[in-house]
Amino acid sequence: MSLINNKKNNQEVNPVTDSKQDNHSCKSATTMVERQRQRFVDKATKVSAKYLRRLVELPGAPDAMQPFFQVLGDIYVDLKNVEKPADTKIVGTYCVMVPDELIYAVGAQPVKLCSGSYTAFAIGDDLVPRDACPLIKAVMGFQAMEVMPIYDDCALMVVPITCDCKKKMAGMLKQRVSTYALHVPTAKSDDSDMEQYVQELYQLIPELEAVSGQTISYQSLAASIDAMGFAQYQMSKFNEFKKHVPALIKGTHAMALMNAFSYLPVAQWSQQMHLLNQELAQRKKDKHYVSKDKQPRIMITGSPIIFPNIKIPLLIEETGGILVGDETCMGERSLYDPTVVVDQSFDGLMRSLANRYTRPCTCPTFVDNSQRIYRIKQMIADHQVQGVVYHVLRGCLVYDFEYQTLEDELGKLDVPVIRVESDYNEEDIEQLRIRIEAFIELIKLKDLALRPKKPGIVG
Ligand code: SF4
Ligand code: SF4
Repeated sequence: MSLINNKKNNQEVNPVTDSKQDNHSCKSATTMVERQRQRFVDKATKVSAKYLRRLVELPGAPDAMQPFFQVLGDIYVDLKNVEKPADTKIVGTYCVMVPDELIYAVGAQPVKLCSGSYTAFAIGDDLVPRDACPLIKAVMGFQAMEVMPIYDDCALMVVPITCDCKKKMAGMLKQRVSTYALHVPTAKSDDSDMEQYVQELYQLIPELEAVSGQTISYQSLAASIDAMGFAQYQMSKFNEFKKHVPALIKGTHAMALMNAFSYLPVAQWSQQMHLLNQELAQRKKDKHYVSKDKQPRIMITGSPIIFPNIKIPLLIEETGGILVGDETCMGERSLYDPTVVVDQSFDGLMRSLANRYTRPCTCPTFVDNSQRIYRIKQMIADHQVQGVVYHVLRGCLVYDFEYQTLEDELGKLDVPVIRVESDYNEEDIEQLRIRIEAFIELIKLKDLALRPKKPGIVG
């Protein structure tokens, strides 16, 4: 019997009015649910602890990374809630296209709830269609188990309708928790679509206000735009350090700090980034590098990579590559573009946010993705990328659709690309390792062939 069926049975039993026998079966059903839940917690925390340990033990982590590791441990290993003042409400979000600024401006705290849990994925596999993406399965798995405070303590969930999986997930979540389906434009170059998105954001405000009990004001919105602006500034400085050859920080560590952004108040995250940037500046001065001169420089793009599902970045860096670029939405995409305010009125701020959260977004859920290709090429040039790993979560059609176009475009630049399809389970690790290792070897050989030959050496 699945856990959900048990839970449903459990809810149907009335311990006061039912017979003794019903009371007995109620108790044993409860015990069984509790046991299943405990097994789930043990497994989920064990797997998260394993990946956290691999992250921490991956050589070269700057000291300033510790608080980021700590928050991932707090949330996924110790199953704590996010740190916040007692009366602050949590608003769960599911995509980089939800403006955190609006949530902060009503005195609530945004928490990104997209999940990468292998254990929750296995539970969600029984709850949603087989071909749904693992991210959705993991979210629904956590929802069903009711063991993650970050899900259970959410006063409202905001789900942008970006793909079919998100649309159906919003419907399922609505049956359990207060959920707002945010419609995002499909054609961002179209002004009428954008106008609709602005109105969507206006409609979101009263929902947020009802949750937090505070009203939005010009000042609170401007202050939250400033706070996010500081985070974007720290991110832009960090990106400069990431371009350095040889590398000053491993890409898997960079992905961890971006994952930590989901669970930390923006001011706290930015302050820690400031310390990290100072440490990287010192590393640069001291010529303290975490890669060798000729180590293949890899970029990752494609479906989101969310802790603890970090097997692919770990494999890239454990098999001899250095991950220098991350174009996924859990990477620099979420903080790359600053909010540009032209019109200083309240409506002007709202329009700036609508622009910031859609126009530069390189997610392939939009109709026209030429901007995405342009951005990837720009990152390849900026970060001196020698090879691209294209990650497709099984069931994530929007990214899979875009693969061929990218492969053709990168072919013209003679940049090798490998498509890696996976889900949230560990069974494919060895197969992935072989493919990624071979890809990195290929780049090394290509690099060797391109190096100028020393005079006097023939052949
Ligand atoms: S992949 Fe696109 S739609 Fe999905 S969470 Fe990321 S930005 Fe949002
Ligand atoms: S964009 Fe892909 S990964 Fe994100 S929810 Fe949709 S199908 Fe899943």
